[in-house]
Amino acid sequence: MQLGPSGVKGRGEYANRFNGHLGCLMPVRIAVIKETRADERRVALVPAVADKLVKLGAEIAMQSGAGDAVKLPNTAYKGVAFANDVRELVSGADIVLAVQPPSADVVGMMREGSILISFIYAHKEPALTKLLRDRKITTFAMELVPRITRAQAMDALSSQAALAGYYGALLGATTIARMVPMMTTAVGSIRPAKALVMGLGVAGLQALATARRIGAMTEGYDVRPETKEQAESLGAKFVDTGVDARGAGGYARELTQAEQDKIAAVITKHIQSADIIITTAAIPGRPSPKLISKAQVEGMKAGSVIVDLAAEGGGNCEYTQPGQTTQVGQVTIVAPINVPSLLGEHASELYAKNQYNLIELFIKDQAINLDWNDEVLAKTALTHAGEIKNEAAKKAVEG
Ligand code: NAD
Repeated sequence: MQLGPSGVKGRGEYANRFNGHLGCLMPVRIAVIKETRADERRVALVPAVADKLVKLGAEIAMQSGAGDAVKLPNTAYKGVAFANDVRELVSGADIVLAVQPPSADVVGMMREGSILISFIYAHKEPALTKLLRDRKITTFAMELVPRITRAQAMDALSSQAALAGYYGALLGATTIARMVPMMTTAVGSIRPAKALVMGLGVAGLQALATARRIGAMTEGYDVRPETKEQAESLGAKFVDTGVDARGAGGYARELTQAEQDKIAAVITKHIQSADIIITTAAIPGRPSPKLISKAQVEGMKAGSVIVDLAAEGGGNCEYTQPGQTTQVGQVTIVAPINVPSLLGEHASELYAKNQYNLIELFIKDQAINLDWNDEVLAKTALTHAGEIKNEAAKKAVEG
């Protein structure tokens, strides 16, 4: 593809949606920005998905080096133009793709009425959300994709959580100074490690499956009773505390003190006999619930590890320091941030496919056609036409 002098296609080619005054539609222009947050390796577009977007009739420009961190150099993308200048890239775009919420500067450069597709988490980004509203950007926030069967192929929370769960189990296995599977040697047998997974959503179930696959004896625990059968189908024992904390939309609700005490009475001995604990518990829009107290950590086996995959929300253990590895006596607490980014290659691939499946809903005959009767589009929209469309986000941002 020919590039203009600035490295992005010239205005005649890229910026005009109409061919003269004939009203003939030009392709939808999609821009992909390079992620700038510390430790973010993912990129919102991979070559295979770029090909599919081109087939859909889109014209794609990327910020130069956007895929470098996942070993996708500019040359890996065919039919894509590259630009160094982010203003030039986004100001002419109909759709901007990103992984992390873009900076206010980037949003400020976007054209009024254009579309942004990215993770946003409005309650953590109130100023950015207001800016998106005021700039009349249509924002599809990937964390808002509804958890319904039809939207599974667009569900980036699930695709990224599955990778995190897998990696959490491996982190646990490589942190302890012992074998995970049973092993028979000339000098006797080594017993398998015990792994306890707390919080059995997408990440937790993947952590259970991975721990079992590498030979651990596995136990799972959650406050949603339906997870019992799911854990058992993965060969794990379910720790039943008798507390049912099912909340709205299939998510867990916050627990009362009496419920927490009831759980602690049952769960403590499981915590204290585990070699590896992986915690993944989250309540949408709230800090992570504390599932492991300081006293419980102090009673854990010497050499054991907690991998806290809920660190971004403050963590599930009272000793967790997000982003750090902490030593408490003989127990190690690993609390990584942005785990999917550590598996950036596959995380980008799955994320790009999730975004493609969403885009496919509204690019028809080479034009953008937003059908607000479509439940997926309506529920994923964070801002549109100068309004915050998501009720919870609106309350969090506007009060
Ligand atoms: P999540 O990240 O919100 O939470 C992880 C797990 O922590 C959940 O299983 C939750 O029940 C658990 N948890 C919360 N508080 C807890 C506590 N105090 N003690 C123990 N466990 C606690 O979960 P997720 O992975 O996003 O999944 C949430 C729900 O959405 C699940 O019901 C899942 O099956 C469902 N889901 C549906 C679809 C779909 O239908 N398309 C897709 C993905 C997930």
